[in-house]
Amino acid sequence: MALIVQKYGGSSVADAESIKRVAKRIVDTRRAGHDVVVAVSAMGDTTDELLDLAGQVAPIPAPRELDMLLSSGERISMALLAMAIHSMGFEARSFTGSQAGMITDATHGAARIVDVTPVRLKEALDEGAIVIVAGFQGFNRDTRDITTLGRGGSDTTAVALAAALNADVCEIYSDVDGIYTADPRVVPKARKLDVVTSEEMLELSANGAKVLYIRAVEYARRHGVLIQARSTFSSSVGTYVLGPGMTLPDGEGEEMEEPIVAGVATDLTQAKITVIGVPDVPGKAAEIFKVVAKSGANVDMIVQNVSIGATGRADISFTLPKTDAAAALKALAGDQPEIGFESLVHDDQIGKLSVVGAGMRTHSGVSATLFEALSVSGINIEMISTSEIRISVVLRGDDLAEAARLVHTAYGLDGASDAVVHAGTGR
Ligand code: ADP
Ligand code: ASP
Ligand code: MG
Repeated sequence: MALIVQKYGGSSVADAESIKRVAKRIVDTRRAGHDVVVAVSAMGDTTDELLDLAGQVAPIPAPRELDMLLSSGERISMALLAMAIHSMGFEARSFTGSQAGMITDATHGAARIVDVTPVRLKEALDEGAIVIVAGFQGFNRDTRDITTLGRGGSDTTAVALAAALNADVCEIYSDVDGIYTADPRVVPKARKLDVVTSEEMLELSANGAKVLYIRAVEYARRHGVLIQARSTFSSSVGTYVLGPGMTLPDGEGEEMEEPIVAGVATDLTQAKITVIGVPDVPGKAAEIFKVVAKSGANVDMIVQNVSIGATGRADISFTLPKTDAAAALKALAGDQPEIGFESLVHDDQIGKLSVVGAGMRTHSGVSATLFEALSVSGINIEMISTSEIRISVVLRGDDLAEAARLVHTAYGLDGASDAVVHAGTGR
Protein backbone atom coordinates (compact mmCIF):
# COMPACT_ATOMS: atom_id res chain seq x y z
CA MET A 1 0.00 0.00 0.00
CA ALA A 2 1.33 3.38 -1.01
CA LEU A 3 0.44 6.99 -0.29
CA ILE A 4 -0.28 8.69 -3.60
CA VAL A 5 -0.79 12.41 -4.14
CA GLN A 6 -2.73 13.28 -7.28
CA LYS A 7 -3.24 16.72 -8.76
CA TYR A 8 -6.01 17.44 -11.24
CA GLY A 9 -5.78 20.62 -13.33
CA GLY A 10 -8.61 22.85 -14.48
CA SER A 11 -9.27 21.06 -17.76
CA SER A 12 -9.61 17.75 -15.86
CA VAL A 13 -12.50 19.11 -13.76
CA ALA A 14 -14.06 21.50 -16.29
CA ASP A 15 -17.66 20.24 -15.89
CA ALA A 16 -19.80 17.75 -13.97
CA GLU A 17 -18.95 14.90 -16.34
CA SER A 18 -15.22 15.55 -15.96
CA ILE A 19 -15.51 15.74 -12.19
CA LYS A 20 -17.18 12.32 -12.20
CA ARG A 21 -14.40 10.96 -14.42
CA VAL A 22 -11.78 12.25 -11.98
CA ALA A 23 -13.73 10.87 -9.01
CA LYS A 24 -13.67 7.44 -10.66
CA ARG A 25 -9.93 7.63 -11.16
CA ILE A 26 -9.42 8.56 -7.52
CA VAL A 27 -11.73 5.78 -6.34
CA ASP A 28 -9.88 3.26 -8.55
CA THR A 29 -6.62 4.24 -6.86
CA ARG A 30 -8.27 3.82 -3.45
CA ARG A 31 -9.70 0.44 -4.50
CA ALA A 32 -6.18 -0.66 -5.43
CA GLY A 33 -5.42 -0.26 -1.73
CA HIS A 34 -3.64 3.10 -1.66
CA ASP A 35 -4.13 6.16 0.52
CA VAL A 36 -5.03 9.09 -1.73
CA VAL A 37 -4.56 12.81 -1.24
CA VAL A 38 -5.79 15.01 -4.07
CA ALA A 39 -4.96 18.62 -4.91
CA VAL A 40 -7.50 20.12 -7.26
CA SER A 41 -7.53 23.25 -9.46
CA ALA A 42 -10.49 25.48 -10.22
CA MET A 43 -12.90 24.24 -12.91
CA GLY A 44 -11.86 24.96 -16.50
CA ASP A 45 -10.90 28.59 -17.04
CA THR A 46 -12.53 29.78 -13.79
CA THR A 47 -9.41 31.59 -12.55
CA ASP A 48 -9.10 33.55 -15.79
CA GLU A 49 -12.79 34.40 -15.70
CA LEU A 50 -12.54 35.63 -12.10
CA LEU A 51 -9.52 37.74 -13.05
CA ASP A 52 -11.47 39.26 -15.96
CA LEU A 53 -14.32 40.04 -13.61
CA ALA A 54 -12.01 41.71 -11.10
CA GLY A 55 -10.58 43.83 -13.91
CA GLN A 56 -14.09 45.02 -14.75
CA VAL A 57 -14.75 46.39 -11.27
CA ALA A 58 -11.30 47.79 -10.53
CA PRO A 59 -8.38 48.66 -12.82
CA ILE A 60 -5.85 47.44 -10.25
CA PRO A 61 -7.67 45.13 -7.79
CA ALA A 62 -6.41 45.08 -4.20
CA PRO A 63 -4.09 42.05 -3.90
CA ARG A 64 -5.73 40.80 -0.69
CA GLU A 65 -9.18 40.85 -2.21
CA LEU A 66 -7.93 39.31 -5.45
CA ASP A 67 -6.63 36.33 -3.47
CA MET A 68 -9.97 36.04 -1.66
CA LEU A 69 -11.67 36.00 -5.04
CA LEU A 70 -9.32 33.62 -6.88
CA SER A 71 -9.13 31.12 -4.02
CA SER A 72 -12.90 30.64 -4.30
CA GLY A 73 -12.44 28.77 -7.60
CA GLU A 74 -10.70 25.84 -5.94
CA ARG A 75 -13.30 25.70 -3.15
CA ILE A 76 -15.96 24.96 -5.71
CA SER A 77 -14.09 22.13 -7.38
CA MET A 78 -12.90 20.51 -4.14
CA ALA A 79 -16.42 20.30 -2.68
CA LEU A 80 -17.92 18.99 -5.93
CA LEU A 81 -15.19 16.38 -6.22
CA ALA A 82 -15.78 15.19 -2.64
CA MET A 83 -19.52 14.93 -3.36
CA ALA A 84 -18.89 12.93 -6.52
CA ILE A 85 -16.70 10.50 -4.56
CA HIS A 86 -19.37 10.15 -1.84
CA SER A 87 -21.93 9.20 -4.44
CA MET A 88 -19.63 6.36 -5.51
CA GLY A 89 -19.78 5.02 -1.97
CA PHE A 90 -16.41 6.25 -0.70
CA GLU A 91 -15.56 8.62 2.13
CA ALA A 92 -13.92 11.86 1.02
CA ARG A 93 -13.30 15.12 2.86
CA SER A 94 -12.33 18.45 1.29
CA PHE A 95 -10.08 21.05 2.91
CA THR A 96 -9.17 24.62 2.04
CA GLY A 97 -5.48 25.55 1.88
CA SER A 98 -5.52 26.93 5.40
CA GLN A 99 -7.36 23.89 6.80
CA ALA A 100 -4.75 21.72 5.11
CA GLY A 101 -1.93 23.63 6.83
CA MET A 102 -0.45 25.33 3.75
CA ILE A 103 1.45 28.08 5.51
CA THR A 104 2.90 30.71 3.18
CA ASP A 105 4.64 34.05 3.32
CA ALA A 106 2.44 37.13 2.94
CA THR A 107 3.04 37.85 -0.77
CA HIS A 108 -0.42 38.00 -2.33
CA GLY A 109 -0.56 36.49 -5.80
CA ALA A 110 2.84 34.79 -5.59
CA ALA A 111 3.10 33.42 -2.05
CA ARG A 112 5.81 30.92 -1.17
CA ILE A 113 5.07 27.92 0.99
CA VAL A 114 7.08 28.20 4.21
CA ASP A 115 5.60 25.26 6.13
CA VAL A 116 3.04 22.49 5.71
CA THR A 117 1.22 21.22 8.81
CA PRO A 118 -1.19 18.61 7.48
CA VAL A 119 -2.60 17.55 10.87
CA ARG A 120 -6.20 17.39 9.70
CA LEU A 121 -5.25 15.56 6.52
CA LYS A 122 -3.45 12.86 8.51
CA GLU A 123 -6.47 12.46 10.79
CA ALA A 124 -8.75 12.08 7.79
CA LEU A 125 -6.41 9.55 6.19
CA ASP A 126 -6.23 7.59 9.47
CA GLU A 127 -10.01 7.45 9.44
CA GLY A 128 -9.90 5.95 5.95
CA ALA A 129 -11.07 9.01 4.04
CA ILE A 130 -9.85 10.21 0.67
CA VAL A 131 -8.45 13.71 1.19
CA ILE A 132 -9.19 16.55 -1.25
CA VAL A 133 -7.26 19.81 -0.89
CA ALA A 134 -7.94 23.09 -2.68
CA GLY A 135 -4.86 23.80 -4.78
CA PHE A 136 -3.20 27.16 -5.37
CA GLN A 137 -3.99 28.66 -1.94
CA GLY A 138 -2.42 29.10 1.46
CA PHE A 139 -2.57 31.11 4.63
CA ASN A 140 -0.19 33.59 6.23
CA ARG A 141 0.11 33.43 10.00
CA ASP A 142 1.11 37.06 10.54
CA THR A 143 -1.54 38.74 8.42
CA ARG A 144 -4.05 35.88 9.00
CA ASP A 145 -5.02 36.27 5.36
CA ILE A 146 -5.58 33.87 2.47
CA THR A 147 -2.83 33.88 -0.16
CA THR A 148 -2.45 32.33 -3.60
CA LEU A 149 0.69 30.72 -4.97
CA GLY A 150 0.83 32.18 -8.51
CA ARG A 151 -0.77 30.96 -11.74
CA GLY A 152 -0.38 27.20 -12.09
CA GLY A 153 0.22 27.00 -8.34
CA SER A 154 -1.90 23.90 -7.72
CA ASP A 155 1.10 21.92 -8.96
CA THR A 156 3.06 23.34 -6.02
CA THR A 157 0.27 22.45 -3.59
CA ALA A 158 0.46 18.84 -4.74
CA VAL A 159 4.23 18.61 -4.50
CA ALA A 160 4.28 20.28 -1.07
CA LEU A 161 1.65 17.83 0.18
CA ALA A 162 3.66 14.92 -1.24
CA ALA A 163 6.77 16.15 0.58
CA ALA A 164 5.00 16.79 3.89
CA LEU A 165 3.21 13.44 3.86
CA ASN A 166 6.22 11.55 2.51
CA ALA A 167 4.16 10.24 -0.42
CA ASP A 168 5.52 7.61 -2.78
CA VAL A 169 4.72 9.63 -5.87
CA CYS A 170 3.11 12.91 -6.90
CA GLU A 171 0.96 12.35 -9.99
CA ILE A 172 0.14 15.56 -11.88
CA TYR A 173 -2.81 15.05 -14.22
CA SER A 174 -3.59 17.42 -17.10
CA ASP A 175 -4.95 17.35 -20.64
CA VAL A 176 -1.83 15.91 -22.30
CA ASP A 177 -0.19 12.50 -21.79
CA GLY A 178 2.96 13.87 -20.14
CA ILE A 179 5.90 16.13 -20.87
CA TYR A 180 6.49 16.48 -24.60
CA THR A 181 9.49 17.68 -26.58
CA ALA A 182 7.43 20.86 -27.21
CA ASP A 183 3.96 22.19 -26.45
CA PRO A 184 1.76 19.88 -28.58
CA ARG A 185 -0.63 22.79 -29.20
CA VAL A 186 2.21 24.59 -30.98
CA VAL A 187 4.23 21.69 -32.42
CA PRO A 188 1.85 18.86 -33.39
CA LYS A 189 4.79 16.50 -34.07
CA ALA A 190 5.98 16.80 -30.45
CA ARG A 191 6.95 13.46 -28.86
CA LYS A 192 6.16 12.38 -25.31
CA LEU A 193 9.23 11.90 -23.12
CA ASP A 194 9.36 8.93 -20.72
CA VAL A 195 11.78 10.70 -18.40
CA VAL A 196 13.07 14.24 -18.08
CA THR A 197 15.61 15.44 -15.53
CA SER A 198 14.43 18.06 -13.06
CA GLU A 199 17.25 20.28 -14.26
CA GLU A 200 15.86 20.24 -17.81
CA MET A 201 12.27 20.56 -16.59
CA LEU A 202 13.20 23.68 -14.61
CA GLU A 203 14.54 25.32 -17.76
CA LEU A 204 11.50 24.22 -19.81
CA SER A 205 9.06 25.51 -17.18
CA ALA A 206 10.97 28.75 -16.69
CA ASN A 207 10.78 29.36 -20.43
CA GLY A 208 7.09 28.82 -21.06
CA ALA A 209 6.25 25.10 -20.70
CA LYS A 210 3.30 25.56 -18.36
CA VAL A 211 2.62 21.82 -18.18
CA LEU A 212 4.47 21.94 -14.83
CA TYR A 213 4.78 25.06 -12.72
CA ILE A 214 8.41 25.98 -12.11
CA ARG A 215 8.01 26.35 -8.35
CA ALA A 216 6.57 22.85 -8.14
CA VAL A 217 9.58 21.45 -9.99
CA GLU A 218 11.94 23.39 -7.69
CA TYR A 219 10.11 22.19 -4.59
CA ALA A 220 10.17 18.58 -5.79
CA ARG A 221 13.88 18.78 -6.53
CA ARG A 222 14.67 20.23 -3.12
CA HIS A 223 12.50 17.75 -1.20
CA GLY A 224 13.16 14.63 -3.28
CA VAL A 225 9.57 14.24 -4.53
CA LEU A 226 9.08 12.01 -7.59
CA ILE A 227 6.73 13.77 -10.06
CA GLN A 228 4.82 11.76 -12.66
CA ALA A 229 3.11 14.02 -15.22
CA ARG A 230 0.21 12.20 -16.86
CA SER A 231 -3.23 12.57 -18.40
CA THR A 232 -6.68 12.33 -16.84
CA PHE A 233 -8.01 11.23 -20.20
CA SER A 234 -5.78 8.23 -20.95
CA SER A 235 -3.94 5.44 -19.16
CA SER A 236 -0.49 6.43 -20.42
CA VAL A 237 2.17 6.23 -17.68
CA GLY A 238 3.21 9.73 -18.62
CA THR A 239 6.59 11.26 -17.84
CA TYR A 240 8.73 10.98 -14.73
CA VAL A 241 10.65 14.04 -13.62
CA LEU A 242 13.83 12.75 -11.99
CA GLY A 243 15.76 14.84 -9.49
CA PRO A 244 19.37 14.20 -8.50
CA GLY A 245 19.85 10.69 -7.13
CA MET A 246 16.27 9.62 -7.86
CA THR A 247 15.47 6.40 -9.64
CA LEU A 248 12.43 5.22 -11.57
CA PRO A 249 9.94 2.93 -9.83
CA ASP A 250 10.67 -0.78 -10.43
CA GLY A 251 10.05 -1.99 -13.95
CA GLU A 252 9.29 1.45 -15.38
CA GLY A 253 11.78 1.87 -18.21
CA GLU A 254 15.54 1.98 -18.42
CA GLU A 255 17.84 4.87 -17.64
CA MET A 256 18.26 6.48 -21.01
CA GLU A 257 21.28 8.06 -22.53
CA GLU A 258 21.27 11.82 -22.09
CA PRO A 259 19.77 13.41 -25.22
CA ILE A 260 21.55 16.49 -26.50
CA VAL A 261 18.27 18.37 -26.77
CA ALA A 262 15.37 17.35 -24.51
CA GLY A 263 12.86 19.84 -25.82
CA VAL A 264 11.82 23.22 -27.15
CA ALA A 265 9.83 25.78 -25.13
CA THR A 266 7.85 28.78 -26.36
CA ASP A 267 6.79 31.85 -24.44
CA LEU A 268 4.49 34.66 -25.56
CA THR A 269 4.14 36.27 -22.15
CA GLN A 270 7.22 38.51 -22.32
CA ALA A 271 7.65 42.10 -23.49
CA LYS A 272 10.77 44.05 -24.42
CA ILE A 273 11.76 47.51 -23.26
CA THR A 274 14.57 49.43 -24.96
CA VAL A 275 16.23 52.33 -23.22
CA ILE A 276 17.60 54.49 -26.02
CA GLY A 277 20.61 56.77 -25.81
CA VAL A 278 22.00 55.80 -22.44
CA PRO A 279 25.20 57.75 -21.61
CA ASP A 280 28.06 55.25 -22.10
CA VAL A 281 29.68 55.79 -18.71
CA PRO A 282 30.13 53.39 -15.77
CA GLY A 283 27.15 52.99 -13.46
CA LYS A 284 24.28 53.62 -15.90
CA ALA A 285 23.23 49.98 -16.19
CA ALA A 286 23.21 49.76 -12.40
CA GLU A 287 20.97 52.84 -12.18
CA ILE A 288 18.55 51.52 -14.80
CA PHE A 289 18.16 48.06 -13.31
CA LYS A 290 17.88 49.38 -9.76
CA VAL A 291 14.89 51.44 -10.88
CA VAL A 292 13.40 48.49 -12.78
CA ALA A 293 13.88 46.12 -9.83
CA LYS A 294 12.23 48.61 -7.49
CA SER A 295 9.16 48.61 -9.74
CA GLY A 296 8.83 44.90 -8.94
CA ALA A 297 9.66 43.72 -12.46
CA ASN A 298 11.34 40.40 -13.05
CA VAL A 299 13.96 41.02 -15.75
CA ASP A 300 14.97 38.09 -17.94
CA MET A 301 17.28 38.84 -20.88
CA ILE A 302 19.47 41.94 -21.20
CA VAL A 303 21.35 43.18 -24.25
CA GLN A 304 23.43 46.34 -24.59
CA ASN A 305 24.66 47.43 -27.99
CA VAL A 306 28.02 49.15 -28.52
CA SER A 307 27.86 52.90 -28.33
CA ILE A 308 27.80 54.54 -31.69
CA GLY A 309 31.15 56.28 -32.17
CA ALA A 310 31.10 59.95 -31.30
CA THR A 311 27.70 60.05 -29.61
CA GLY A 312 28.99 58.18 -26.54
CA ARG A 313 25.56 56.70 -26.04
CA ALA A 314 24.28 53.10 -26.10
CA ASP A 315 20.91 51.34 -26.18
CA ILE A 316 19.96 48.78 -23.54
CA SER A 317 17.14 46.30 -24.21
CA PHE A 318 15.67 43.89 -21.71
CA THR A 319 12.75 41.48 -21.51
CA LEU A 320 10.29 41.10 -18.66
CA PRO A 321 6.77 39.69 -18.15
CA LYS A 322 4.18 41.72 -20.10
CA THR A 323 2.33 42.27 -16.85
CA ASP A 324 5.38 44.01 -15.31
CA ALA A 325 6.03 46.35 -18.24
CA ALA A 326 3.72 49.25 -17.34
CA ALA A 327 5.20 49.66 -13.86
CA ALA A 328 8.79 49.41 -15.16
CA LEU A 329 8.14 52.01 -17.88
CA LYS A 330 6.56 54.40 -15.39
CA ALA A 331 9.49 54.02 -12.99
CA LEU A 332 12.07 54.57 -15.73
CA ALA A 333 10.26 57.60 -17.15
CA GLY A 334 10.18 59.09 -13.65
CA ASP A 335 13.96 58.82 -13.37
CA GLN A 336 14.80 59.85 -16.93
CA PRO A 337 16.41 63.20 -15.98
CA GLU A 338 18.79 61.58 -13.47
CA ILE A 339 19.73 58.63 -15.66
CA GLY A 340 19.99 60.83 -18.74
CA PHE A 341 18.71 58.47 -21.44
CA GLU A 342 16.91 59.80 -24.54
CA SER A 343 13.74 57.71 -24.84
CA LEU A 344 11.96 54.43 -24.09
CA VAL A 345 10.48 51.90 -26.53
CA HIS A 346 7.95 49.30 -25.40
CA ASP A 347 7.42 46.20 -27.57
CA ASP A 348 4.86 43.61 -26.46
CA GLN A 349 4.82 41.65 -29.72
CA ILE A 350 7.83 39.46 -29.03
CA GLY A 351 8.11 35.68 -28.59
CA LYS A 352 10.82 33.67 -26.90
CA LEU A 353 12.01 30.32 -28.19
CA SER A 354 14.26 28.14 -26.02
CA VAL A 355 16.06 24.90 -26.72
CA VAL A 356 16.88 22.87 -23.59
CA GLY A 357 19.07 19.82 -23.08
CA ALA A 358 21.58 18.59 -20.50
CA GLY A 359 23.71 17.22 -23.34
CA MET A 360 24.50 20.77 -24.50
CA ARG A 361 27.20 20.91 -21.86
CA THR A 362 29.32 18.43 -23.73
CA HIS A 363 28.29 18.97 -27.34
CA SER A 364 29.36 21.83 -29.53
CA GLY A 365 27.45 23.16 -32.51
CA VAL A 366 24.05 22.99 -30.81
CA SER A 367 23.38 26.69 -31.27
CA ALA A 368 24.47 26.62 -34.92
CA THR A 369 21.59 24.22 -35.69
CA LEU A 370 19.13 26.67 -34.12
CA PHE A 371 20.44 29.70 -35.97
CA GLU A 372 20.62 27.80 -39.26
CA ALA A 373 17.02 26.56 -39.00
CA LEU A 374 15.77 30.11 -38.39
CA SER A 375 17.91 31.75 -41.07
CA VAL A 376 16.79 29.32 -43.79
CA SER A 377 13.21 30.52 -43.20
CA GLY A 378 14.17 34.17 -42.94
CA ILE A 379 13.16 34.49 -39.27
CA ASN A 380 15.03 37.32 -37.61
CA ILE A 381 16.65 36.89 -34.18
CA GLU A 382 16.46 39.99 -31.99
CA MET A 383 18.16 38.82 -28.78
CA ILE A 384 20.08 35.73 -27.69
CA SER A 385 20.86 34.35 -24.25
CA THR A 386 22.31 31.08 -23.06
CA SER A 387 22.76 29.01 -19.94
CA GLU A 388 24.78 25.82 -19.60
CA ILE A 389 21.86 23.72 -20.85
CA ARG A 390 19.71 26.24 -22.75
CA ILE A 391 19.78 28.63 -25.70
CA SER A 392 16.99 31.22 -25.98
CA VAL A 393 16.21 33.65 -28.75
CA VAL A 394 13.74 36.52 -28.95
CA LEU A 395 11.78 36.77 -32.21
CA ARG A 396 8.62 38.43 -33.49
CA GLY A 397 5.69 36.81 -31.65
CA ASP A 398 4.02 36.07 -34.99
CA ASP A 399 7.00 33.94 -36.03
CA LEU A 400 7.18 31.92 -32.81
CA ALA A 401 5.01 28.91 -33.68
CA GLU A 402 6.60 28.42 -37.09
CA ALA A 403 10.06 28.84 -35.57
CA ALA A 404 9.29 26.21 -32.92
CA ARG A 405 8.19 23.69 -35.55
CA LEU A 406 11.27 24.31 -37.71
CA VAL A 407 13.68 24.05 -34.81
CA HIS A 408 11.93 20.93 -33.48
CA THR A 409 12.45 19.29 -36.87
CA ALA A 410 16.04 20.53 -37.15
CA TYR A 411 17.02 18.81 -33.89
CA GLY A 412 15.42 15.54 -35.04
CA LEU A 413 12.74 15.66 -32.35
CA ASP A 414 9.67 15.09 -34.55
CA GLY A 415 7.52 12.07 -33.72
CA ALA A 416 5.96 9.76 -36.27
CA SER A 417 2.41 10.94 -35.63
CA ASP A 418 0.64 13.98 -34.19
CA ALA A 419 0.41 14.38 -30.41
CA VAL A 420 -3.04 14.28 -28.79
CA VAL A 421 -4.36 17.14 -26.68
CA HIS A 422 -7.38 15.67 -24.89
CA ALA A 423 -9.16 18.77 -23.56
CA GLY A 424 -8.71 22.29 -22.34
CA THR A 425 -8.71 25.63 -24.14
CA GLY A 426 -4.99 26.31 -23.80
CA ARG A 427 -5.82 29.55 -22.01
P1 ADP B 1 -3.65 22.11 -16.01
O1 ADP B 1 -4.81 23.03 -16.24
O2 ADP B 1 -4.05 20.67 -15.91
O3 ADP B 1 -2.75 22.54 -14.91
P2 ADP B 1 -1.98 23.32 -17.95
O4 ADP B 1 -2.83 23.98 -18.99
O5 ADP B 1 -1.39 24.15 -16.88
O6 ADP B 1 -2.82 22.11 -17.35
O7 ADP B 1 -0.79 22.50 -18.65
C1 ADP B 1 -1.06 21.62 -19.71
C2 ADP B 1 -0.74 22.31 -21.03
O8 ADP B 1 0.65 22.62 -21.06
C3 ADP B 1 -0.94 21.47 -22.26
O9 ADP B 1 -2.28 21.50 -22.69
C4 ADP B 1 0.02 22.07 -23.26
O10 ADP B 1 -0.63 22.96 -24.16
C5 ADP B 1 0.98 22.89 -22.41
N1 ADP B 1 2.41 22.56 -22.62
C6 ADP B 1 3.40 23.45 -22.81
N2 ADP B 1 4.57 22.86 -22.99
C7 ADP B 1 4.35 21.53 -22.91
C8 ADP B 1 5.19 20.38 -23.00
N3 ADP B 1 6.51 20.49 -23.20
N4 ADP B 1 4.62 19.16 -22.84
C9 ADP B 1 3.31 19.05 -22.63
N5 ADP B 1 2.45 20.10 -22.53
C10 ADP B 1 2.96 21.33 -22.67
N1 ASP C 1 -6.47 27.76 -10.77
C1 ASP C 1 -5.15 28.30 -10.72
C2 ASP C 1 -4.75 28.83 -12.08
O1 ASP C 1 -5.52 28.77 -13.03
C3 ASP C 1 -4.14 27.33 -10.20
C4 ASP C 1 -3.89 26.15 -11.07
O2 ASP C 1 -4.70 25.79 -11.93
O3 ASP C 1 -2.87 25.50 -10.88
O4 ASP C 1 -3.66 29.34 -12.22
MG1 MG D 1 -1.14 23.98 -14.80
